[in-house]
Amino acid sequence: MKEDFYDILGVSKGATAAEIKKAYRKMALKYHPDKNPDDKEAEEKFKKAAEAYEVLSDADKKARYDQFGHQAFEGAGGFGGGGMNMDDIFSQFGDIFGGAFGGGGFGGGFGGGGRRVVKGSNLRIRVKLTLEDVANGVEKKIKVKRKVQAEGVTYKTCSTCNGQGQVTRVTNTILGRMQTASACPTCGGAGQSIDKRPDGSDAQGLISKEETVSVKIPAGVVDGMQLKVTGKGNSAPGNGIAGDLLVAIQEENHETLKREGDNLHYDLYVSLPDAVLGSSMEIDTVSGKVRIKIEPGVQSGKILRLRGKGIPSINGYGKGDLLVHVNVWTPKTLNKKQKEFFETMREDEHFQPKPESSDKSFFEKVKDMFS
Ligand SMILES: [Zn+2]
Repeated sequence: MKEDFYDILGVSKGATAAEIKKAYRKMALKYHPDKNPDDKEAEEKFKKAAEAYEVLSDADKKARYDQFGHQAFEGAGGFGGGGMNMDDIFSQFGDIFGGAFGGGGFGGGFGGGGRRVVKGSNLRIRVKLTLEDVANGVEKKIKVKRKVQAEGVTYKTCSTCNGQGQVTRVTNTILGRMQTASACPTCGGAGQSIDKRPDGSDAQGLISKEETVSVKIPAGVVDGMQLKVTGKGNSAPGNGIAGDLLVAIQEENHETLKREGDNLHYDLYVSLPDAVLGSSMEIDTVSGKVRIKIEPGVQSGKILRLRGKGIPSINGYGKGDLLVHVNVWTPKTLNKKQKEFFETMREDEHFQPKPESSDKSFFEKVKDMFS
């Protein structure tokens, strides 16, 4: 059970945006990894608070959360499964911490020295794929809300560090003069700070914008796999670089085909007369229906292997197979005439089971399949 976001931040359900921000700020300062080095518990609390704030600080997400709870973020667009990583959390800080981390700038400013390349935060999205999509590969158009630089925003070179991102300090110690370099306290190491920002943009001069991103999904992807679309996450302020869009694959179950690695399985039910006399039957494949031949005298439990009718390997080496499992369907009830027919066959020597080595047991076949 996931902890309630309001409980995590220690605020009531009716808390105002300012109260939520204040509560998060307090927690982030208390559990910040720089203050609690190697403290896993603090790090966990820090991440949880960031996740809660990510939702409760966004009017849209907050409304969804208030109505549906954590379930609101389990479908596409949420980050229900993934959680946030440290990069995302730190990049969120620009909005919240003016003075505490990196002055009026937006560097984030952890650790010292050198100019930091500011990177926008990553976006996460989940995309549902049918087995056919997985088998053939697919191009998906995904709507994402990304942060981009607002029209008319300008950034200037930081005057404290002249764009260097670091400041040098000379101190006199008993060992002599010492020179130390540290991250610029004004811009947090970015070398730039905001100059003019249009109404409606955030502290970094960014606004939210809905965009359609085209994502090419290669054949053979696996449920849970994450694809990266470079540069399609949130933009960074100034001349920083945009974050990435991370696309998590969710594979939907197929009605009749079951996937196992690159192989597919299909259960085929054959009537008693068809099994005895032979037949041809239609089966499902990922590229439509296919007719296959049933040899006379087919045994229940036989596995027909259709080579190359499975899923292409994600590494590009060949394709899996489609394994058709034959199940001979025995009628559960018979009328008088049918019953008489089978009664006469009961005594017929020809109907007695006489398995040959080619009629391997089910278990031997399974063993073969995996070897
Ligand atoms: Zn600076």
